[in-house]
Amino acid sequence: MYCGDNQGTDVDHYEPLAVAPLRTFVWKNHLLACSGCNSHFKRGGFPKSRDGVPLLLDPTVDDPFDHLALALSVGLYAPITDRGRATIEICQLNRDILSRGRQTAYETMTIILEAWRQASDHEDEYKKTSLMNTIREQPFADVIYAMLRYAHAPGASQLFADRPQLLPILNDEQLRTSLLTWDS
Ligand SMILES: [Zn+2]
Repeated sequence: MYCGDNQGTDVDHYEPLAVAPLRTFVWKNHLLACSGCNSHFKRGGFPKSRDGVPLLLDPTVDDPFDHLALALSVGLYAPITDRGRATIEICQLNRDILSRGRQTAYETMTIILEAWRQASDHEDEYKKTSLMNTIREQPFADVIYAMLRYAHAPGASQLFADRPQLLPILNDEQLRTSLLTWDS
């Protein structure tokens, strides 16, 4: 829920027990997290702004990409807002193992998307579905989400200057619908 890896082994309390004991058993306060984020980095950390807003992004409410920008080629997050900056610090979102994982995910996604384009050109629906399912199973889902989002953003051609073949694939309506909606 925090770092984007898919090693969810712990149930994290978004508002830590020490801060909000009455929310201990509140369902929406329970987030699946990796032990790195939960036990090693975040622990009891839960800073708030002067007006009482939690600085840690709540992935059940906030869209992290409103607060964080992902540099795809190096797998590092940069803050856009104060809450983004705090979340990077609290969960150490730029730790080495994560940035390497995101770089690998970017390379893997590029290969899978190119294979999807080929399958699409050959009208091979079985292979297209299989490749979509492969994308959904990859760790670091934040990487493909960033790719889809940035492909629609101003300056997309600069962001993907080193692999321009990806842009028409990422802007394919069928692919976007398949990856960005829950029930397909
Ligand atoms: Zn994590």
